[in-house]
Amino acid sequence: MQETLFIIKPDGVRRGLVGEVLRRIERRGFQLTRMELRQANKDILAQHYADLLEKPFYHQIETYMLEGPIVVGTFYGSDAVKTWRKTMGVTNPAEAELGTIRADFAQGPDSNGDMRNMVHGSDSVESAQREIAIWFGED
Ligand code: ADP
Ligand code: MG
Repeated sequence: MQETLFIIKPDGVRRGLVGEVLRRIERRGFQLTRMELRQANKDILAQHYADLLEKPFYHQIETYMLEGPIVVGTFYGSDAVKTWRKTMGVTNPAEAELGTIRADFAQGPDSNGDMRNMVHGSDSVESAQREIAIWFGED
């Protein structure tokens, strides 16, 4: 059993797709353990995306994630980390498999290289623990 961290990014909240995402989590049998609607800020994003700070597209991530409120939460269950990554689909929505959240709902990249891939999921158990500590101030 594992716990993972998910984020419904600003486009998901703005487009009214929170319910769609939560439905996919709940119907898999995962147990929601924390959830909050909140506004990110530059500091918390720099912690969360620490490994991407030096990337040329970091400012695009920042702009995207600050566009509006996000839903940050955690859920618990069997193989939660990997199952959620598979449910989301790969980073680029244009390359994501049909049936994944990113293929079915997300947008981009556009001509500026901007992409809104709508959801986040921790990529390992260690990342999940690190990210839960960042967003919820605990391990
Ligand atoms: P994932 O979210 O699939 O784990 P990464 O950890 O590689 O992907 O990147 C984190 C986030 O940064 C992505 O979800 C996406 O929002 C943004 N991102 C990644 N690569 C690019 C890129 N080349 N151009 C613009 N944004 C990007
Ligand atoms: Mg990642």
